[in-house]
Amino acid sequence: MKTLLLIDENEASRRRLLPVFEASGWRVLEAADEKTGWDLARECQPEVIVVDLPVKLPDVTYWLRALRSEAPLRNVKCVVRSLGSTAVAGDALLVPEWTEAHLLAALESLGADHAPGAAPASETAGNQQIATTFKFWGVRGSIPTPGADTVFFGGNTSCVEVRAGGEIIILDAGSGIRPLGLALAAEFGPAPIRINLLISHTHWDHIQGFPFFLPAYDSKNELRVLGFEGARDGLRATLVGQMESPYFPVALHQMPSRLVIGELKDMRFSMGPIQAQACFTNHPGVCAGYRLVTPGGVLVYMPDNETFLRDGRRANGSPVPSPLERNICAFIRDADVLIADTQYTAAEYDRHVGWGHGCLDEVVRLAVGANVKRLFLFHHDPSHDDRFVAGMLAHARELASGLGSAMRIDAAREGEQFEMAPVAAAC
Ligand SMILES: [Zn+2]
Ligand SMILES: [Zn+2]
Repeated sequence: MKTLLLIDENEASRRRLLPVFEASGWRVLEAADEKTGWDLARECQPEVIVVDLPVKLPDVTYWLRALRSEAPLRNVKCVVRSLGSTAVAGDALLVPEWTEAHLLAALESLGADHAPGAAPASETAGNQQIATTFKFWGVRGSIPTPGADTVFFGGNTSCVEVRAGGEIIILDAGSGIRPLGLALAAEFGPAPIRINLLISHTHWDHIQGFPFFLPAYDSKNELRVLGFEGARDGLRATLVGQMESPYFPVALHQMPSRLVIGELKDMRFSMGPIQAQACFTNHPGVCAGYRLVTPGGVLVYMPDNETFLRDGRRANGSPVPSPLERNICAFIRDADVLIADTQYTAAEYDRHVGWGHGCLDEVVRLAVGANVKRLFLFHHDPSHDDRFVAGMLAHARELASGLGSAMRIDAAREGEQFEMAPVAAAC
């Protein structure tokens, strides 16, 4: 018989819910506080934990992650009372109301026979109703641009954190990975962290933060770095190179974490239950965009890409997609979220054809044509201050609306986190 651990400080609530779960075929364990719950979870290894604790959601999140760091509990499914918060609890399922109907629906949507960490991802994985989150830690292209003029959107270079299916996936290691590393260390404390780091390419704005990534300096942590070979050297050689003396005092091999650098050979690969697909972009050297199929939907990360090739860019005033462009269009098609290089306005782009970066107007048209649900402008130019980026955003929205599109558009902003599952609506 499958076991469910109910952690709820309210005894009346436990009395009310216990027979409901038992009637659904669960063996139910009860705990009134987190300490007892922790001990019972370790001892009995339940399939599901249902949690209502009188603490803030981030604390429950931390508690669950620490619990899951213990191997037998790694795939335990969790249902958490949301306490009205809009925050997320890792890949736990949030339930806004503590009623029998909501809880039974939550258990059903988790699926009785597969654990979150083992579920096969597919293009229909969004139906699993388990949240995927992503957070921007660096949104700038080319070079970090701190200062009063960029404080709103942020000055750190490319880095996005994705949490899905029990995996932590970091997209690029620009200078934004440094504050991310500090946040992960604070969140996990003594618990080990398992991280996948996907590198789009080895231009400096996408790897320069790696030597300052704190979790790489702790032997309890496991770090898997994946990417395609650099323009001349392999991925490992390039990452080693930027940490060689006289550029940096610590060599890559001296980082104490369990660090594995895997050069990708296939365009399809997986990270735990998350299926990923790569697509080479139109950018100097070797650069890949990544499409992640997560339980919360499809997220495509395309940080550096020039939308149209110089030679085939226009014919009779109309954009002409190149074969590469058609490939990219198929790659981003129907994405729930597209994070795309929109470094230049149309006027700027005319002076930067062939530089390998996106023209805002063309990216918007491309995304609309590919039925993207939500677009994030990304890789902001270092010369664009907050006012300018806000103007580009307004222009992009006008353009999409003029095309009759309901696509949502935002400019990526450092520190902002988003959730990709209509969890509350599913309950
Ligand atoms: Zn870049
Ligand atoms: Zn680049």
